[in-house]
Amino acid sequence: MNDLQVAGVVKAYGPGTAPVLDGLDLTVPGGALAAVLGPSGCGKTTLLRVVAGFLRADEGTVTVAGRTLGGPGVHLPPERRRIGIVPQEGALFPHLSVARNIAFGLTGADRSVKRSRVAEMLDLVGLAGYGDRMPHELSGGQQQRVSLARALAPEPHLVLLDEPFSALDTGLREAVRADVRAVLRASGATAVLVTHDQQEALSTADLVAVLREGRVAQCAAPEELYRRPADPWVASFVGDAVFLPGEAERDAVRTALGTIPLSPAPTGLTSGTVLLRPEQLQVTAAETAHARGTVTDVRFLGHDALLAVSVEGLDEPLTVRSPGPIPARPGELVGITVTGEATLHAPM
Ligand code: ATP
Repeated sequence: MNDLQVAGVVKAYGPGTAPVLDGLDLTVPGGALAAVLGPSGCGKTTLLRVVAGFLRADEGTVTVAGRTLGGPGVHLPPERRRIGIVPQEGALFPHLSVARNIAFGLTGADRSVKRSRVAEMLDLVGLAGYGDRMPHELSGGQQQRVSLARALAPEPHLVLLDEPFSALDTGLREAVRADVRAVLRASGATAVLVTHDQQEALSTADLVAVLREGRVAQCAAPEELYRRPADPWVASFVGDAVFLPGEAERDAVRTALGTIPLSPAPTGLTSGTVLLRPEQLQVTAAETAHARGTVTDVRFLGHDALLAVSVEGLDEPLTVRSPGPIPARPGELVGITVTGEATLHAPM
């Protein structure tokens, strides 16, 4: 299988400078689409360039499909790695037709093989009949699909996509993301998508690796990452988070909002920071609820509303995500109930 293994990769840009990648480990199973997610400057592009072979790591190894591409004494050049690249904004050759762009990496193949592979790729990305067009005659989304077809044409073991949707406007971005995901699935290629957009990572990838300061802070399936973040930093980075103090009690935690089941069960922590998501909190009638608070702010977002609720005993107002009609206005006393499970972390 075409799995990717990055093990203990260290990379600094100059002698005496702090490493940008600092002992980074990442495993992507064959055929999976992994997102590498992290704030600006955390080393995402550097990681892609090390995997692609444009940069040589100071330490560690990069292995794809069991073949060591980079490591101590080994550094295959990019063109020998069988890695396809979809750069930011597609970057098609402007003076070549769509078909010639797609055929670009098919060196050595004879003309009829090239022609049928190009036709197959055009079909795969839903652009059959567009082969004679020039890149400027295509929409941004179509250009991005051609760029993907060009990367996939030589049957790479791995495809790297570097913020491929960042130049597209919001409406188009969603549609192109869905297209790219479907094409990657149909091709069976292993892929790594770099993004700083958490929504994009969660909605597009099978696996999300969150990078922080040159290391993987957590690598998990999107739902696992969202529901069971490894630490409060990851929790805040992948979504809105509600933090409150709590005391562990077997497989639950006691908080100002009542006792909440824990998942996973605590590992030796007796007290700490409890993490919930705003949609786990519900506004209810004040009389019957275990916890009560006063609404201090309401932000209407269309599909739901975010309420700030000040609860006695908590330093910070809670953020409550409420679907449907706005349940209460600023100044109203409301009840707060919790659904689902919480995670418990070392005190912040
Ligand atoms: P962004 O989301 O902003 O693209 P990133 O996570 O992709 O960021 P990188 O581009 O990998 O981050 O950069 C990581 C760090 O390495 C940054 O501090 C950056 O300034 C530094 N860096 C990147 N390229 C070079 C270079 N060629 N020479 C020196 N430092 C560099």
